[in-house]
Amino acid sequence: MKKHNFSAGPSILSEQTIKTSAAAVENFAGTGLSILEVSHRGKEFVAVCDEARTRVKELLDVPAGYDVIFLGGGASLQFCMVPFNLLKQKASYLDTGTWASNAIKEARLFGQVDVVASSKDAGYTFIPKDYKVAADSDYFHFTSNNTIYGTEMRNDPDLNVRLVCDMSSDIFTRPVDVSRYDIIYAGAQKNLAPAGVTLAIVREDALGRAERPIPTMLDYRTHIRKESMFNTPPVFPIFAALQTLKWYQELGGLRVIEKMNLDKAAILYDEIDRNKLFRGTVATEDRSIMNVCFVMTDEYKELEAPFAAFAAEAGMVGLKGHRSVGGFRASLYNAMPRSSVQALVDAMQTFEKQH
Ligand SMILES: *Cc1c(COP(=O)(O)O)cnc(C)c1O
Repeated sequence: MKKHNFSAGPSILSEQTIKTSAAAVENFAGTGLSILEVSHRGKEFVAVCDEARTRVKELLDVPAGYDVIFLGGGASLQFCMVPFNLLKQKASYLDTGTWASNAIKEARLFGQVDVVASSKDAGYTFIPKDYKVAADSDYFHFTSNNTIYGTEMRNDPDLNVRLVCDMSSDIFTRPVDVSRYDIIYAGAQKNLAPAGVTLAIVREDALGRAERPIPTMLDYRTHIRKESMFNTPPVFPIFAALQTLKWYQELGGLRVIEKMNLDKAAILYDEIDRNKLFRGTVATEDRSIMNVCFVMTDEYKELEAPFAAFAAEAGMVGLKGHRSVGGFRASLYNAMPRSSVQALVDAMQTFEKQH
């Protein structure tokens, strides 16, 4: 039986991505070679890399003056690469969770960091809204979706400073006004590809201003000039990313995907709010449509382990909440079919009837 994969990351990929990637492991682009053993400089792979960058630009409507690059090191390396390249004097950061605070820690190595607001004292259960960002900030950094806590900012913040965003877990889930951003980055392993590649969308004008020597590999300009081929890029994850990007375009683009995601999240949140055994863990208005966190209500606390076993029996994988939060987390990335969300809702209802 095919499992319902609710894992937070690495996570579910579309059937199309997995099938076409598996075929290319056997025979890539008619070369008679595996994608795992070809040169990154061969014309077939260069074409893959170019097409992937083009499709990212099409999907997100990336304006002229921006480059799309594929990097190593995960989103976590971007926590230091961003300030290394962009922070001259002062940057502003919003602290909405573990990933945001990891980014803050790295930025402090490069200059003054204003943490404009934090919901840490409340266990990161909401997105702070009343904050001021100094107009002379080099940029404002935020995490659009807090994968661990299940909160999300679904709009581009309306500020008079340049934006930088960690979109690791909600890129390609809605249209974004890229022109407001200096850098958008995302580890691929949530909505794009297997682990091993990081997508960055970089505004060319933002670079070259910080007056510090930047190691070659950590300088965005290196990778832009060499079109992500300065060193050997993660060939297989980029191939898989292209398959996912094709699928997104075949589905009809980000407005269609957003609608599908809103619908999937709604059926699960409605059940959490209705079912006497469960409750949500974050402020309703900040609920993420990607990572749905919930716990047993106090009255039924002792049913946590039995429900986990019941869901596993029904073929559900990856529902355990992050170790820092506990409870359950259902990650509903783009590739998650509505039928799997419905299967989880059905399991919650059946379990409720039994107790
Ligand atoms: C998963 C995740 C990260 C960490 O990504 P790595 O690629 O493991 O470094 C950072 N930020 C967010 C929002 C994430 O979901």
